[in-house]
Amino acid sequence: MRKTLAVFLFGILFLSCANKSEFAQNAKSKDKPMKDKIMKSDEEWKKELTPEQYRVLREKGTERAFTGKYYQNHEDGIYYCAACDNPLFTSKTKFESGSGWPSFYEPIPGGIESETDNSLGMARTEILCARCGGHLGHVFDDGPKPTGLRYCINSVSLDFKKE
Ligand SMILES: [Zn+2]
Repeated sequence: MRKTLAVFLFGILFLSCANKSEFAQNAKSKDKPMKDKIMKSDEEWKKELTPEQYRVLREKGTERAFTGKYYQNHEDGIYYCAACDNPLFTSKTKFESGSGWPSFYEPIPGGIESETDNSLGMARTEILCARCGGHLGHVFDDGPKPTGLRYCINSVSLDFKKE
């Protein structure tokens, strides 16, 4: 009887410990960023991307204005990173900027990162995919309400999926 009780108590103790560690693991994973970063070599990216995608996403190039496939896209849906499928922008925040590039006033939370870009003799803010570090475009402060921001993004860095 005593032995049974001991096994029973040990069982409870074990279960509660197991639950605790599971809980700790959950709490830990909540602290981490939503998505794991994707790190690939230049060679790997070259294999996966088109030459134009590679030039823009990995070499920080810019597609020519009024040539991209999305600057005139008015369909409802989500714009994902063309390299890693990370959701970046929704059609709800897209607006006509007249710049010749798809423009948004707000990104999907957690989708992008920014960095100061001092190339071309200008101080600009570069926009990168938060998941794969791919170059998307730049953000300027001449956008519409409610944010006043204009995320100027290369179509070739995006993959649009209808909602
Ligand atoms: Zn990406």
